[in-house]
Amino acid sequence: MRGYTAVMKSHAQVVVIGGGVVGCSVLYHLTRLGCKDAVLCERKELTAGSSWHAAGGFHAFNSDPGVARLQAYTISLYPELEKISGQSIGLHHTGGLLVAETSERWDFLRTDWARHRVLGLATELVSPAQLRDLCPIMDTSRVRGALYAPDEGHLDPYGATHAYAKAARLQGAEIYRHTRVLEIVPMDSNGWRVVTDQGNIACEHVVNAAGLWAREVGRMVGIELPAIPMEHHYLITQDLPQLAQAGREMPGILDLDGEIYLRQERNGILLGVYEKQATPWALGGVPWEHGETELLAPNLDRLVDSLNKGFQRFPLLADAGIRRIVNGPFTFTPDGNPLVGPVPGLRNYWAACGVMAGFSQGGGVGLTLAQWIVNGEPDGDVLAMDVARFGRYAANPDYAVAKAREFYARRFQIAYPNEYWPAGRPCKTSAIHDRLAAANAVFGQSFGQEIPLYFAPAGEAATETPTLRRSNAFAQVRNECLAARNAVGILDISSFSKYAVTGSSASEALDRVLAGRLPAIGRMRLTPMLAPSGRLMGDLTTMRLAEDHYVIGGSGYLQAWHMRWFDEHLVRPGVTCTNTSDEYGGIALMGPRSRDLLAQVARLDVSNQALPFMGVARVELSSGPAIIARVSVSGELGYEIYVPREALPGLFDKIRGIAPAFDARLIGLYALNSLRLEKCFGIWSREFSRDYTARMSGLDRFVDYGKQDFIGCDAALRERDAAPAHRLVGLSVDSEDADATGYEPVWDGSEMVGFVTSGGYGHCVGMSLAMGYLQSRIPADHRGLSVTILGERRPCRVLPQAPIDPRGARMRG
Ligand SMILES: Cc1cc2nc3c(=O)[nH]c(=O)nc-3n(C[C@H](O)[C@H](O)[C@H](O)COP(=O)(O)OP(=O)(O)OC[C@H]3O[C@@H](n4cnc5c(N)ncnc54)[C@H](O)[C@@H]3O)c2cc1C
Repeated sequence: MRGYTAVMKSHAQVVVIGGGVVGCSVLYHLTRLGCKDAVLCERKELTAGSSWHAAGGFHAFNSDPGVARLQAYTISLYPELEKISGQSIGLHHTGGLLVAETSERWDFLRTDWARHRVLGLATELVSPAQLRDLCPIMDTSRVRGALYAPDEGHLDPYGATHAYAKAARLQGAEIYRHTRVLEIVPMDSNGWRVVTDQGNIACEHVVNAAGLWAREVGRMVGIELPAIPMEHHYLITQDLPQLAQAGREMPGILDLDGEIYLRQERNGILLGVYEKQATPWALGGVPWEHGETELLAPNLDRLVDSLNKGFQRFPLLADAGIRRIVNGPFTFTPDGNPLVGPVPGLRNYWAACGVMAGFSQGGGVGLTLAQWIVNGEPDGDVLAMDVARFGRYAANPDYAVAKAREFYARRFQIAYPNEYWPAGRPCKTSAIHDRLAAANAVFGQSFGQEIPLYFAPAGEAATETPTLRRSNAFAQVRNECLAARNAVGILDISSFSKYAVTGSSASEALDRVLAGRLPAIGRMRLTPMLAPSGRLMGDLTTMRLAEDHYVIGGSGYLQAWHMRWFDEHLVRPGVTCTNTSDEYGGIALMGPRSRDLLAQVARLDVSNQALPFMGVARVELSSGPAIIARVSVSGELGYEIYVPREALPGLFDKIRGIAPAFDARLIGLYALNSLRLEKCFGIWSREFSRDYTARMSGLDRFVDYGKQDFIGCDAALRERDAAPAHRLVGLSVDSEDADATGYEPVWDGSEMVGFVTSGGYGHCVGMSLAMGYLQSRIPADHRGLSVTILGERRPCRVLPQAPIDPRGARMRG
């Protein structure tokens, strides 16, 4: 290949490892954002990993809105990339179809269609008759309809990868082919020495874009990345006369019930399957010799069931001759999304790997990573692909393999909002897991940990039916909510995160990292945390136990994400920050009788004077030392009790022993969600995320603008006095059988004026509730609003105030 630099630099600002589509996209985006001193090392030729044998399809659809946005960006970039690089990408904008056979799948597609309005994706719902016109070889007799994305299509994987590479080179980057990275050695100067078989490069940042070899390149710095290579087949048929006669190219198709995907390849069909018998490859390590032109031996027996299903929809294919069979490996993470961003615990070691759909996502991954390296943070919320969404638990190979196989096999199944897939579970459990299980808990999973969702009636199976509508949990969750509003709900909160911040400079450091005012000793505060751009980085609760001793609480699944931020911005001489989430368990009591119950558990003056709302006490319980915080997300009088993990069973047994006297009952996180919606309390990843700022989300009321020296202060001050375009509101929705789940559009007639962030049923107020961002110009008493749930417009109204206890008397009482 001509034109690629032969002489290796000894220093570079960034070294990207891997010349697949992802590495080349990272390199291009670095240069585009102004980082010209970036180089890429490729073991063989560009595309020598998974990229060369990809089917080349690019798709707009993704269940995560953040990833869908980046896929839309990737697709929109190709024509520009072709122009900049002068390299043909072989673009075929054929459009793409997601086909539904069952009514459940049709509901799912209609829900997706509505979400696409919010994301700005130009998709359309099409009827079976329209489908026949778009795809003459499909038997549509059992089809309900399809979702059509006009921007989708396919391309030449080689051309696309080289287009990124050439565009990067034109903007100053260098590419070293036949240069294998052997070692990555930390330097005293905080940078890295990248040792290759062609010489060494000292650099500030290393990017692991090693695709199939991402785990091996991770191990060079002692980390275990959950990116598992899986075998994948596609077949290419001989030419079909029907396609030759059609006169135009057929759209790409994902037939979700038929279990195959296909697209036109010249006048034949390329069809692939995600078979149930998902097969990992090279678990002992991917050979360094693999790639470039090497494929895996095909095994069509594994595909037979899926192919037969597919042939029912596309009968012509059953008799078509096969021209080519490809079996190639590519990597899967536990949830199918990429691993992107700074790897926790390592300075300037970046992940851009685990990318299952490099030609749909590669552009977005490259842009995100380049923004992070060059600007210090990505634009928007990218948690769904952040490498820090997983903890150490995911590094366990058994877990990573089980989850990758599960994701592969379920690739075409509906991901229900109330479904937690079973593989690799239980992975981590609370210290009272056995007791909760004995009480018939139905568990979900968060950050590897089993969490109680609700408690099934005694004698019934502890299983919730996956559904897009209200589930069989409904009646039980109602009972749990009523218990918490009228008596006491008891909730295992061991999965919440708890960070201990101590040291002589702890207050000073926290004052800079948190945007809110620090609490006095014995008190707690809600303390938002901001990025320099003013985007939200946390909705934390900060407790102060002593002058230099704080405990910060937050959402459990953000532990690695928060700790990465704290390690970078908080820890310094005189400040330590320790993640104690696994060492401490917790129980929350909530409800009007919770004080009386607590009085029986703790030798403590629990009066409102001694332990007021947002008060914190360190006490000695019979089970050992504990922290008691008077707070509750339910909006009720409530307490969170934290004890060392080993003391939790004793505490739990004591509480349960006296529970009947207070009509107290076990509750799960579903109940807590319903209770907090009745109070219009926002939570992370729903109302709060990096997509929003303090002002937009209403968290500005907890920002201490006076202190003027916190991260994000300038940005927060800039937006403080300007009216935000959107505001967070509570909504009541007229809906009989289903509730909003998130990202549904809110309409004023035909105009979209906002979107939902979360929804559920308010069992104590008897209405379907939602929260969401609405254009600020819409007055609170506006009539005629509606929200699309499962494809149907349902009337909704802005709640003038929280439907339960708007003044907060119950939690303060
Ligand atoms: C059969 C099949 C069909 C597919 N179809 C599609 C599709 O239709 N659409 C889609 O979007 N995706 C598809 N994919 C997935 C797609 O191929 C991958 O998502 C994509 O190629 C990942 O790109 P990457 O750059 O992350 O990894 P890779 O392509 O694996 O690139 C990694 C590169 O790193 C290099 N490298 C590794 N270690 C080192 C080292 N130590 N030193 C130097 N270099 C190193 C390797 O040589 C390699 O070139 C398909 C995959 C397969 C197998």
